[in-house]
Amino acid sequence: IGACSVEALLHLLPQLLWFYCACRTAGNMSSVSVPPPKCLQKPLVVPHRHMFGPGPSNVPPRILEAGANPVIGHMHPEIFEIMSDIKSGIQYMFQTQNNMTLAVSGTGHTAMECAIFNTVEPGESVLTAVNGIWGERAAEMAERIGARVNTIVAPPGGFFTNAEIEQALSKHRPVVFFLAHGESSTGVLHPLDGIGQLCHKYNCLFLVDSVASIGGAPLYMDQQGIDILYTGSQKVLNAPPGTAPISFSERACQKIFNRRTKPVSFFLDLSWLANYWGCDGKPSRVYHHTGPVTAFYSLRESLAVLVEEGLEKSWERHQKVAEYFHACLENMGLKLFVKEKKARLSTVTTIVAPHGYDWKEITTYIMKTHNLEISGGLGPSVGLVLRVGLMGCNSSKANVDMVLAALKDALKHCHKSKV
Ligand code: PMP
Repeated sequence: IGACSVEALLHLLPQLLWFYCACRTAGNMSSVSVPPPKCLQKPLVVPHRHMFGPGPSNVPPRILEAGANPVIGHMHPEIFEIMSDIKSGIQYMFQTQNNMTLAVSGTGHTAMECAIFNTVEPGESVLTAVNGIWGERAAEMAERIGARVNTIVAPPGGFFTNAEIEQALSKHRPVVFFLAHGESSTGVLHPLDGIGQLCHKYNCLFLVDSVASIGGAPLYMDQQGIDILYTGSQKVLNAPPGTAPISFSERACQKIFNRRTKPVSFFLDLSWLANYWGCDGKPSRVYHHTGPVTAFYSLRESLAVLVEEGLEKSWERHQKVAEYFHACLENMGLKLFVKEKKARLSTVTTIVAPHGYDWKEITTYIMKTHNLEISGGLGPSVGLVLRVGLMGCNSSKANVDMVLAALKDALKHCHKSKV
């Protein structure tokens, strides 16, 4: 029997060989030249981390779960209702009655560009207050669309008096004045009172960045005469990055909808966004772009959390936790970068980079040993500070204690030079 089978196999050999070659050739004739990447054949792994840098902050399960709801069409009536809820939440968070209130599909930078691209036309004068990176970035965005940009500059950690602002407004006669309420690169909370009124006196729109401050420090858009206000989703709101609330006053809309030229960006053109968000009073909405529906769910949930706690309670909690944090840091012998107490941002604390240490070694050590993110400086504060963000659900005394323990440990174990 054995001899028979061998003989039969030998007989079949040419056919087997042909079959093998045919399979090889078919493989080689595949239309794709880039093979499927091996990395994507492994499961996704994301670590749990304490997100105590200047953002993003941790997203609590309730908000993550909201984002895990089924995707439905971006033009379905249920989504329009969710967008309408978001609009109400933003109006509350911003303390505004502005009808032109929505969330841009993108991060804080998208909202920044939305604000500048819609309000400024080429050749117009723009003034930005630079006391950190955000005023620099706003100036660059305005420059890119051909505006004539002037700046007032304060050293990192500093801020401007209303008299300095008025002087610059009267000198440069800008159509827009940009100011960061929470300068996350330097840890400054800029006073806002009276600036809106000054801007209006000089026929200028007051544009405020509240990405790092909203929900963590008092701000009243209407009362403070702010014409354009924007924020991000990933800081105090504890939603994933990717949506950016923004609101425009009636004065801002007057300027925007009487432009001579079209805004440079189709995607960020407010007339399109206003229609998608049901802010233009038209009976029907027209497709502009595919709204990030699952990001809308998370944003709605994060606003619901803020509504549940209440704005004033949230401001108060951030302030109390920050004061506790700042006192403990000083007790440890560390110095706060912002000298004036009332100008310290409660959401992002800047600590003078400890003398004799390499700041990068400290942040790396803390990440490795404590699974906790804090960061170094940004833009003009690089090398000068460590930045700790305790925002939204992360703003608690327990988390302060965790950061302090990590810092103490790092100062004990990181290399310290003798000088
Ligand atoms: N402005 C401020 C004050 C910020 O802190 C940030 C984010 N660090 C931004 C604008 C830009 O936001 P995003 O990174 O979401 O684009």
